[in-house]
Amino acid sequence: MTAAETSIGVAVLGSTGSVGTQTLDVIAEHPDHFHVVALAARYDTPLLREQILRHCPDLVALQQQPGDDFPFVAGLVCGEEGLLAAATASGAEIVVVATSGHDAILPTIAAIEASKVIALANKETLVCAGEIIMPLVQQRGTSLRPVDSEHSAIWQALQGSRHHDIARLIITASGGPFRTLDARELASVTANDALAHPTWAMGAKITIDSASLMNKGLEVIEAHWLFDMPYEQIEVVVHPQSIIHSIVEYVDGSQLAQLGLPDMRTPIQYALSYPARLPRRGERLNLQQIGTLHFQPPDLERFPCLQLARDAGTAGATYPTVLSAADDVAVAAFLEGQISFPSIPDVIAEVVEAHVPETQVTVEAILAADAWARVTATSLVPRRTP
Ligand code: MG
Repeated sequence: MTAAETSIGVAVLGSTGSVGTQTLDVIAEHPDHFHVVALAARYDTPLLREQILRHCPDLVALQQQPGDDFPFVAGLVCGEEGLLAAATASGAEIVVVATSGHDAILPTIAAIEASKVIALANKETLVCAGEIIMPLVQQRGTSLRPVDSEHSAIWQALQGSRHHDIARLIITASGGPFRTLDARELASVTANDALAHPTWAMGAKITIDSASLMNKGLEVIEAHWLFDMPYEQIEVVVHPQSIIHSIVEYVDGSQLAQLGLPDMRTPIQYALSYPARLPRRGERLNLQQIGTLHFQPPDLERFPCLQLARDAGTAGATYPTVLSAADDVAVAAFLEGQISFPSIPDVIAEVVEAHVPETQVTVEAILAADAWARVTATSLVPRRTP
């Protein structure tokens, strides 16, 4: 067979974001293995145009109409329909869901219904709709492959295992840029301080979530759904160097971990190439050079978001959606200098507290809870102006 016959078609939702661009790097490094079928982005930007010229997708989805001289593509879909069209594009075997926020939920469901393999980078999909997504994946006989480094590490450490042999999942956290600050110092940090994240290159929202440990909390909820693991068997350990990406402990006490330099392209590539592994260029992990690896427990007093997320996950129903939507609003307010860093968990806690959950988790219930939480969180922001 020629390369073209075996090459896997990939649709990239959120192609101009951090994971999207790194996915296209991986595809460009392995042109015999992968080709781009569809790209979806919010806006017409120079970066998107460059991606179109380089990867020649059959379909491009945009939330807004493009400007003049937009490159020619066989299919251009604008507006709400765009993400759905890219998620179900014929010729795409794998759909990389790297769209940020709650917008990814419906396209992911559509992709699963079209029996696509999902490479999932978006957090909200499982946080809000895990209860809907995981049974649907089973029902359609497809698979959901994690892209997030921690879940990829767990997935790798679980290869060849039996579910009942797992004792615990141990998720590592970098601890973020404010790990060493005391409560008084935390009250005066700014968005710029947070955006100088020590180890991973990421977008602004996830960077703030890393600093508050909300990111880790959302990852605990995701791990619960992805690996069918009760919350009490999921732990978090702070590991500032981000060399061990997560650990699985088995009933015999053995812990299997996945290690590597912090580079998102490794888990992205594994999600595309699975079960094969493809060579990667660049620097390799050298433990002799690193010398010592450091670990500590997370400080839930200075960083209450981790516990808020765990509680919302345990409560289930529409609580995780409300937590995540309130966090979206609170982080946006912090990025704009409207609220202080410690106000982020305060706003979220107040919204979660006021929530009356919908016991039946449907897409409609999720969207309604999301909308309610945003309105409620927004109404709380002015009261917390620093
Ligand atoms: Mg992560």
